[in-house]
Amino acid sequence: LSFDQMGLKDDLLRGIYNYGFEKPSAIQQRAVMPIINGRDVIAQAQSGTGKTSMIALTVCQVVDTASREVQALILSPTRELASQTEKVIRTIGDFMNIQAHACIGGKSVGEDIRKLENGVHVVSGTPGRVCDMIKRRTLRTRAIKLLILDESDEMLSRGFKDQIYDVYRHLPPELQVPFSLSYHALFKFVLFFVIRRTSSIGSL
Ligand code: AMP
Repeated sequence: LSFDQMGLKDDLLRGIYNYGFEKPSAIQQRAVMPIINGRDVIAQAQSGTGKTSMIALTVCQVVDTASREVQALILSPTRELASQTEKVIRTIGDFMNIQAHACIGGKSVGEDIRKLENGVHVVSGTPGRVCDMIKRRTLRTRAIKLLILDESDEMLSRGFKDQIYDVYRHLPPELQVPFSLSYHALFKFVLFFVIRRTSSIGSL
């Protein structure tokens, strides 16, 4: 499968090729299309295999830039990963005018508020700060259609379970939830979310 065969938006393809990618990595070949087609997906791959870029390009494809509402939310276990994901989205989405914001602890709340009120399409953050912004009603959730839990097993083992569920409760019911897992302890962790959901799970 090539990037050209994935039915991606032209401006997104430009961003991908401009970034230096020629063909999708294995995880990108398997996970991108099901997510774009609306499935809940569990994607598991070792780090460095293109998972972050996979998330970035699915998010860029799904977001409608004609609206200024937040449409995709990515939760990550660490500030570094959340920032890295936001950076890749901004780079790959450069030709599409995607506005992405990293909502992470340790940065000024005032800056978060200013950015979010200006209008962003994608928020990539850590559970605590994202939860805080939702409760302040600074981060509006009604247009969110995609919640990506990156390294979900790692987030749960770091004790973010209650905050993730708190975020989840504020999101629209027709939400799509792809997961990624950083290592092998699969179902014990994901069942927590999966049993609350009615839509089909496309497991890779
Ligand atoms: P990631 O796991 O997304 O952080 O990717 C690991 C490294 O591989 C990063 O330096 C990416 O820029 C690079 N990479 C990801 N996907 C591709 C691809 N399809 N082609 C070439 N390099 C890639």
